[in-house]
Amino acid sequence: LFITIEGPDGAGKTTALNELFPRLEKETNRKVIATREPGGVRISEKIRDLILDPNNEEMDVRTEALLYAAARRQHLIEVIMPALAAGHIVLCDRFVDSSLAYQGAGRRIGIESVAQINEFATEGLQPDFTLYLDIDSDEGLRRIQTSRKAGIDRLETEGLEFHQRVRHAYLKLVEKEPERFSLIHANQDVQEVVNECYTIIKIKYPT
Ligand code: C5P
Ligand code: MG
Repeated sequence: LFITIEGPDGAGKTTALNELFPRLEKETNRKVIATREPGGVRISEKIRDLILDPNNEEMDVRTEALLYAAARRQHLIEVIMPALAAGHIVLCDRFVDSSLAYQGAGRRIGIESVAQINEFATEGLQPDFTLYLDIDSDEGLRRIQTSRKAGIDRLETEGLEFHQRVRHAYLKLVEKEPERFSLIHANQDVQEVVNECYTIIKIKYPT
């Protein structure tokens, strides 16, 4: 079972995942793996650092998209595929949908082109289920500005319009694949968000 958590910056994906993980682990007799993108394995972490390094400001948007796809590939091969093959539950913070939203719409490469390189990278593997944590762009921005040190990554210099394009793209993806996605309103308290995610997973995948 492959579950991803998606959403704009500041939606609380990482917090939700960190709290969901022990709860699910206690509930099920299957092994649960929590992981994140971009990163999770040595090579992918190196690619992540390259992408997020504020000194790499000359990086072309397609170079960035290819690097995300490359990091994704390595993480898929080393972590996700073996875990799924062993019958484990995989909870992943971001996957292909992030690239469609951030590189496709945020960076304006186009959803279709970004989908193509990711199809190559993943050989078409898709999550069984995706929790989409939705948040207003201004609230999301406010949260990342207050919770993170300014300037630690290149993306944090992006303005409101970038984040609005990202959110809009996510909402369109959810609309296109309603069976795969569940939308959770993440403007509410993060504890409420975690409870809602947990309840949705329990209903969809009773143990
Ligand atoms: O996963 P996390 O929120 O830590 O992502 C780190 C940074 O990378 C964020 O600023 C996010 O906006 C950006 N990102 C991106 N494209 C992706 C995934 C993440 O621009 N495909
Ligand atoms: Mg995060």
